[in-house]
Amino acid sequence: NPNCAEDDIFFQAMEEVLLSIFPLFKSDEVYSKNAKNAVIRRLITPDRVIKFKVVWMDDNNEVQVNTGYRVQFNNALGPYKGGLRFHPSVNEGILKFLGFEQILKNALTGLPLGGAKGGSDFDPKGKSDFEVMKFCKAFMRELYKHIGPRIDVPAGDIGVGGREIGYLFGEYKRMTSAFEGVLTGKPFFFGGSLMRPEATGYGVVYFTRKMLELDGKESLEGKVCTVSGSGNVALHAIEKLQQLGANPVTCTDSKGMIYDARGLDLALLKELKFVRRTSLEEYAKVHPEAAYTPVSEYPEGAHAVWDIPCYAAFPCATQNELNKKDAENLVKNGCVSVSEGANMPSTTEAIDLMLKNKICLAPAKAANAGGVAVSGFEMSQNAAMQRWSFAKVDVKLQETMEEICENVASTAKEFGVEGNYVVGANIAGFKRVADAMIAEGV
Ligand code: NDP
Repeated sequence: NPNCAEDDIFFQAMEEVLLSIFPLFKSDEVYSKNAKNAVIRRLITPDRVIKFKVVWMDDNNEVQVNTGYRVQFNNALGPYKGGLRFHPSVNEGILKFLGFEQILKNALTGLPLGGAKGGSDFDPKGKSDFEVMKFCKAFMRELYKHIGPRIDVPAGDIGVGGREIGYLFGEYKRMTSAFEGVLTGKPFFFGGSLMRPEATGYGVVYFTRKMLELDGKESLEGKVCTVSGSGNVALHAIEKLQQLGANPVTCTDSKGMIYDARGLDLALLKELKFVRRTSLEEYAKVHPEAAYTPVSEYPEGAHAVWDIPCYAAFPCATQNELNKKDAENLVKNGCVSVSEGANMPSTTEAIDLMLKNKICLAPAKAANAGGVAVSGFEMSQNAAMQRWSFAKVDVKLQETMEEICENVASTAKEFGVEGNYVVGANIAGFKRVADAMIAEGV
């Protein structure tokens, strides 16, 4: 519906993909004009959008009403799979954009996973643990009708971590009496995979390491890196960067940015964000040498984090957090690579500018696929009643991220755009899904 402003972000995601897969249609006879049109029309339309009311009681015994969604986008390759986002900005358009991206991302992992996304406009911030539990249980009392280990397997995203997945799983079990792998991102002691919390952030760094190697660039060791966000993806990217000897110096939240040139105190960040769930401003109180910049003091039309000189940048917070002005700042400061940990963090203009200036750009659907890959491993472990060691999951994650990177790089080369990981990822992901859709018939 072109008149619906909510869908703007979905169109942005579609446009980026559809424009970049053009070389495939020029070169490949499988995609005759009719097949091309039909497969695209089928691909950009979700199989179904489930929208429901979530009613729950807050701690003051007041009735609260939120909206819940599940966008089951495409299951050509396997059961629907994708996270749940709890954030006040959630609407159908955002979930369609995320679900569409998820189809191609899941295809790139090589695992048998379809694409979906869901969530609610519920804001977990400022809610008690008990309120979060009551909301999650009310949400699942509707969602459970639509999901199952072979049908649709949700996971976490912004605002949904191990705590929320635990409550959701508990309610699914109560409604169905089935203890089964219907959600991933579960805490380890009742069926989660080791390394699932770390997987997306670590995976982004593994992808970047391989991309720099393939492009003949210097490694991350000893290099200054900038990271945005301070949630699950950002803090684990920072952790892996530090383990590889890089120096990540920034992180952000919705209120501001921390810049600690000596290197970030990760233990403190985890305490502030995962345990106390508080603002980054607290960091500067413990480390007065670090600079805290509130959002109100960001330069006009830009984000302060992308004007800190760095070798590699990692946007890991949210969509459209790196715009054209930010991209100009990255180029001006000599940044060599940008790896998207968040989903679609760069605007279309920023992507164009970075590619024109030969920045190695790792697009989200390839670079942040480590999370869903380990979710796939969690499904395998649940189905086989097994538990893999941390080291085994880590090896498989590294292999997967390197394979995705090599596949994307070689696809870009095959289609005459060597070094363009955006086009490479879109064509490689699209081809796998489109081939399955054509083979399965209408
Ligand atoms: P979290 O909820 O753990 O963290 C989100 C972070 O982003 C927080 O620091 C939050 O700040 C900040 N943030 C959220 N919205 C905004 C905004 N509008 N403006 C500025 N900052 C914002 O989420 P995740 O780390 O899990 O997810 C981050 C990104 O990565 C999302 O794009 C998600 O879709 C993507 N992703 C996540 C995966 C996963 O496995 N978790 C897998 C693949 C992609 P504050 O603390 O103030 O709320």
